Amino acid sequence: MEIRRGIAVSPGVAIGPALVLDTEGILIPIRTVEPAQVDGEVKRLRAALAEASRLAQEKHRTLSAKLGQEIAEIFAAHAGLYEDPKLVRDAEILIRANNYSAEYGVSRAVRAIMKQLESAGISPLVTRLQSDFVDLEKQLLSLLQGEGGRPLAEITEPIIVLAHDLTPSETAVLDPKTVHAIATESGGATSHTAILAGALEIPAVVGIGRFLSDISGGDTVIVDGYQGLLILDPDEDTLKRYLDLRRRDCTASGIHQIFHKDIPAETRDGVRLHLYGNIEFPGEARHCIDRGADGVGLYRTEFLYVNKSGDPTEEEHYTAYKTVLEEMGPDRPVVIRTLDLGGDKFNVAAGLTHLEKNPFLGLRSVRLCLKNQPMFKTQLRAILRASVYGDLRIMFPMISTAMELRQCKSILREVQEDLEEAKIPFKSGIKIGTMIEVPSAAIMADVLARQVDFFSIGTNDLVQYTLAADRNNETVADLYNAADPSILRLLGHVIRSANKASIDVTICGEMSGEPMFTQLLLGLGVRQLSVTPRKIPELKRLVRQMSISDAERVADEALRLETAREVTSYLREQLRRILPDVAD
Ligand code: PEP
Ligand code: MG
Repeated sequence: MEIRRGIAVSPGVAIGPALVLDTEGILIPIRTVEPAQVDGEVKRLRAALAEASRLAQEKHRTLSAKLGQEIAEIFAAHAGLYEDPKLVRDAEILIRANNYSAEYGVSRAVRAIMKQLESAGISPLVTRLQSDFVDLEKQLLSLLQGEGGRPLAEITEPIIVLAHDLTPSETAVLDPKTVHAIATESGGATSHTAILAGALEIPAVVGIGRFLSDISGGDTVIVDGYQGLLILDPDEDTLKRYLDLRRRDCTASGIHQIFHKDIPAETRDGVRLHLYGNIEFPGEARHCIDRGADGVGLYRTEFLYVNKSGDPTEEEHYTAYKTVLEEMGPDRPVVIRTLDLGGDKFNVAAGLTHLEKNPFLGLRSVRLCLKNQPMFKTQLRAILRASVYGDLRIMFPMISTAMELRQCKSILREVQEDLEEAKIPFKSGIKIGTMIEVPSAAIMADVLARQVDFFSIGTNDLVQYTLAADRNNETVADLYNAADPSILRLLGHVIRSANKASIDVTICGEMSGEPMFTQLLLGLGVRQLSVTPRKIPELKRLVRQMSISDAERVADEALRLETAREVTSYLREQLRRILPDVAD
């Protein structure tokens, strides 16, 4: 048994067979065979190796003619690898000794070689050899599986998806009925993949570091999304312990969700908070209502791009927004955020055909919308048309300057005029807000507050841009920390600016659903939080144990601290005093 530690991003426990998903989506199935079939498996292996070698040599010949000898040499080297006596021998031994299928034998043999390469340290040669072996495994598996290789969407049995990384679009299409957990080598706590796993309620651990070379498809693994653990090849005791935990977990979370969903989020000294849901798909509006949300505080509309190669049409936008508004009814506000494409989200679909060197600092979000006005106007028309169905509000993401905000509002006015001319109805007086998620916007909050009806603070990006630490990169996860004093000070300034201008301010980054931060945020003056719907009942329970006067004392004290570590331990201690079961 081996226990690997990563970043817990979506709670829950799952036990099941691993499905190793490589970047091209090829699945590595497990199949042990009957002893009588072993000779046949070895024959299949040899045939696949011979065919792969022949294909590589053929590629070498055609590419030599086209691109010259030097480039084509890569394929000559590949052809050599397929004949590598060690690989062939190791795979055959594994198949014969364990009754493995040819696929599983290849996978184990390649992974053992990868592991040896890993121990040789990092060098350009090792990196190249590793990627050669990944290619080789893919090629052999696709030859062996032939028609038998199934895309993920067709898998119906429960599995645990293991991958180096998953993009938001890959994660968005995972079906929680079959995918019982996710574990990835890379990724950070607020990556969009992590957020989606939470939205889909799939237990997930990311940023584990290298483990794929130690595992093949079909091996039993445990994902512990509470503690951030991936357990490979669990022993009997561990298996039993986790089976028990999973059973208790289902009952406890069910009880919790039912008991706390309908109570108001009111502090002990009688201050009522508003708790909204963050959603990515129209179907999640129902989750918000089921969890007792006061509305939708953030609708990430860019997820309309899932499974799409082009821009959504106006009708597609409109139908999605109308669905959410009708579901939420007239009394629950719905904040529709305009497209936040780019960064790690749907770059290709958004027409970002050239690869940006630094996409998080590039043509992301509202910057892209201002450059591609037809796309922006299509969305704004649909939003305005949908406004007649409920309490819709519009929010612009990634605003960096007052100028950008003015431009967005002036384009919105143009679209309103077009609709008026065409006599297409929309609501007047729609509330307009901006995300505060870029440090420049946070610093200028007092100025921006004069231009909008509300702020929503996106701490996921605010933390990444303030601390210059990529939210997706596990190697800087220690630095990427919402408890950093710089973030507390920025939050204080933004919240004060909003309160002074008498506009609403919500926190909608992942920080808002973290119990450790609730007292701090109340104490800083926040009265509205927008979180993954699943977290709402728990937050209600928490808020009801707090008082604003205590929260203000906690915020004052936290603002005096100098490091993220001090802030974290102080806030944990304060939470433990009120709700020990949540703090631990
Ligand atoms: C944020 O940055 O905190 C936010 C809510 O936006 P997103 O996570 O979609 O970037
Ligand atoms: Mg953001």
